[in-house]
Amino acid sequence: MALAAALALVIFTIDTFTMLASAVAVLYVLVIVLAGDLGSKRIVRTASAVCATFTVISFLISHANDWETQATLRLLFSLAANIVTTLLLLRRVGDEAALKESEHRYRTIFETLAIAIWENDFRHVMAELTSIRESGITDLRQYLADHPGLACDLRRSVRITDVNQTALTLMGIPSKQEFFTSLDDFLPDRDGGFVNFLVALFEGQRDFQSETTVRSRDGRLIPILVAISFPKDGTGLDRIQASIVDMTERHQFQEALEASRQELEQASRAAMIGEISASIAHEVNQPLSAIMTCVQAGTRWLDRTPPDISEARAALQDAAAATEHAAQVVRRVRMLLGKSKSESAKLSVDAVLGEAAQLKQKELLTAGVELQLSLGAPAAVIRGDKILLQQAFINIITNAIHAMETVRDDSRSLRVESRQDKDGIAIRFLDSGAGLGMTAPETLFKPFNTTKVNGMGLGLAMCRSITMAHSGNISLRNRDDGKGAIVEIRLPSHVDEMETAEPLTA
Ligand code: ADP
Repeated sequence: MALAAALALVIFTIDTFTMLASAVAVLYVLVIVLAGDLGSKRIVRTASAVCATFTVISFLISHANDWETQATLRLLFSLAANIVTTLLLLRRVGDEAALKESEHRYRTIFETLAIAIWENDFRHVMAELTSIRESGITDLRQYLADHPGLACDLRRSVRITDVNQTALTLMGIPSKQEFFTSLDDFLPDRDGGFVNFLVALFEGQRDFQSETTVRSRDGRLIPILVAISFPKDGTGLDRIQASIVDMTERHQFQEALEASRQELEQASRAAMIGEISASIAHEVNQPLSAIMTCVQAGTRWLDRTPPDISEARAALQDAAAATEHAAQVVRRVRMLLGKSKSESAKLSVDAVLGEAAQLKQKELLTAGVELQLSLGAPAAVIRGDKILLQQAFINIITNAIHAMETVRDDSRSLRVESRQDKDGIAIRFLDSGAGLGMTAPETLFKPFNTTKVNGMGLGLAMCRSITMAHSGNISLRNRDDGKGAIVEIRLPSHVDEMETAEPLTA
């Protein structure tokens, strides 16, 4: 500023008080250029105005009495030079200010970005890759495998030229100066990511993204996602930016998610195991009491004088049959727990339903329940386990009998229906019992939920497990006419042709 002012005064003195017949005032452009270096449009404009004023004052003083055309032209020429210089400088100062502003913005973004950014000097790597390519090598991966030290050398040759605050924090390094070493210092010894990156670069890829690890100052391995982009024109290789996202939290989150998924799986498996193991006890209870009754009867036949051997044998045979039934139940239900699949065969739904109803016939009779079988799906075939499905049907019939205990004998009826539609097979059990009242049906499917004095609350839970194991579903609701409950089971049909079904005896 002082220099510009001094120069202006010198020019003014020469221009005003010497008789040089030349456009000395043109030299004012030097003053304006000096002012322009200060980088302010205001200073440039002020310097320009002062210089123009000086030019005019000098002219008026030195040519007040002898106005001549030549001098006027020199004045105009000097002023024109002043204006042109001022305009050019104003534009330059404006451009510089815009550049500064954009650099400032870039710096702010660079420094404050939550993503770590490293600037690397890849000139040596690029030169090396180019010379490898020029030597006729096409498979860089193989070439690197044949020259084991090369990848490490290239890693060492990549200098880090700048980093942002996030990168410092990520790597646990206090100052940038300490960071400006080689990339090699931050990559784990056994790092395949860099080789992949070299291969991608060698093959002409400009954008590279990969998950890899870096080693922090304290030796911690940090999982990262790195993205590098190379300019297409091959310039700026000394300042290639790599953006790095710390994946630690994401990995921890994924691990936690996986752990809780496994926990959930274990918990639901444990719940199912609990539910089904308890249901084994529930389901074998009946055969056990039958065995007890048969054994007691057999003992009584033997205690007679003379002992009635044939009746005793019959009682023992009944006991053996009940034992087999119990064993079968246990075997099949266990299959639901284990990995081994339950027995799967093509079954006629109507046949299995008929069989279940037959098994409960005596009990239905005793309870005074009229059974109506309306089996409308003779061709409906499913793939499943006969004993398990039978258990489910028997359980539903038993519940219906229990629900009808409180209603008048002459109005006890159970209707079992089956039909096939495009969605599969629908089986319905409609009883004329007490219904569910206000109880939410869903709660009744939960294990140990019972309204019966001696109930275990496992039957429906087991029915649900069994239907689900057969890719079906089960629901329980009050009948629309309010005269009892409906249990509905939906199962997917296997094939439509009855001929392919396993023949069953109903
Ligand atoms: P439990 O028979 O040992 O009670 P379940 O799981 O088979 O166990 O049944 C749970 C409950 O669902 C029964 O206690 C009963 O209250 C209700 N329930 C089941 N079936 C019927 C039905 N057909 N009518 C009315 N209530 C029923």
